[in-house]
Amino acid sequence: MNLPTQDTQDGFPVDGLPARRGLATEAVHAGREDLVALGLHAPPLDLSTTYPSHDSRGEAARLDAFAADGAELAGPPVYARLGNPTVARFETALARLEGTESAVAFASGMAALSAVLLARNALGLRHVVAVRPLYGCSDHLLNAGLLGSEVTWTDPAGIADALRPDTGLVMVESPANPTLAEVDLRAVAHACGSVPLLVDNTFATPVLQRPAGHGARLVLHSATKYLGGHGDVMGGVVACDEEMARRLRQVRFATGAVLHPLAGYLLLRGLSTLPVRVRAASVTAAELARRLAVDPRVARVHYPRIGGAMVAFEVHGDPHSVIAGVRLITPAVSLGSVDTLIQHPASISHRIVDETDRHGAGVSDRLLRLSVGLEDVEDLWTDLDGALGGERTEGARRKEMAEGR
Ligand SMILES: *Cc1c(COP(=O)(O)O)cnc(C)c1O
Repeated sequence: MNLPTQDTQDGFPVDGLPARRGLATEAVHAGREDLVALGLHAPPLDLSTTYPSHDSRGEAARLDAFAADGAELAGPPVYARLGNPTVARFETALARLEGTESAVAFASGMAALSAVLLARNALGLRHVVAVRPLYGCSDHLLNAGLLGSEVTWTDPAGIADALRPDTGLVMVESPANPTLAEVDLRAVAHACGSVPLLVDNTFATPVLQRPAGHGARLVLHSATKYLGGHGDVMGGVVACDEEMARRLRQVRFATGAVLHPLAGYLLLRGLSTLPVRVRAASVTAAELARRLAVDPRVARVHYPRIGGAMVAFEVHGDPHSVIAGVRLITPAVSLGSVDTLIQHPASISHRIVDETDRHGAGVSDRLLRLSVGLEDVEDLWTDLDGALGGERTEGARRKEMAEGR
């Protein structure tokens, strides 16, 4: 039964898939369905690299089956690079949240994207159509052709014209890192025709947006960010249909960028609080965006239409002095943690992107990217206000007076 809660607002459950429970319920229960029967409460963490079996004929048959179609091994695991039960729980849960048939986890977000590119290249589909901005390293991986891909950069309106017979992938990020630019996913999916669309959903998370419901065939996450949510686990995952998942599992087995079981455990745990964390941080982020937008020291604020916990803003003054000036906020790259982080994309997250391309993608040298955490909004504002320097704002003065400072 699907109660009309706030969780159904973005078309959840996703079109074409069976009715599911609400998002917050799935976040807590998906991937854990067998625990009661096992007599467990917390999911087991299986660190085995190998698994014993006296039936080597049976193992041979199962390995042949995996080589042939990439389906998840039936029966007990064989070797950790082929699959791990703790990681499989995380994959099950993430697929449920994204509304896809399957999900395949990797050692990092970049490992996940690499696997997608390798899987497409292996079919001779080396051409990628992509829309800037993308996360700096994704941009670099495509632009440098490190894995043999050839990229055509375009805007969303140019996608259909950029497609070629050897186009294996269209890639967009929405909201994009670091400008929070959004694309109309449904329109983009339509423009792709039969070419698979990959949406990097790291910033929105399935709490705010489920791209599969808009026609994306592959949904990528740097699980290092919101899915883990505590700044202490690195991982990546691709949510997709089972046909794609089979190819990705084969690439993962052959190339080895597996997610560590402990990371799988922590990511599964992270998912259970994902809706609560994202919603709470989004409320604070929207308030900070509102205050920044009317602050004379700020030239421009970027905050997505769909909301979220990321805010980007361009300062009139020196962005480096803001980074040097924060005391509560952590001056660090990455995002999606319980604590608020700030970084200067032109210096760090997008440093690897050529300056002309960076500017062309709308990444100004005065842009700062703020990942809002779970602190009290007034403490964050006081810190930002101080780091922005110059004239104290009216609001900060009033608060200081009220607190007798
Ligand atoms: C961080 C990030 C990545 C890369 O993920 P890693 O886990 O660092 O490899 C990809 N896409 C986006 C949007 C990111 O923010």
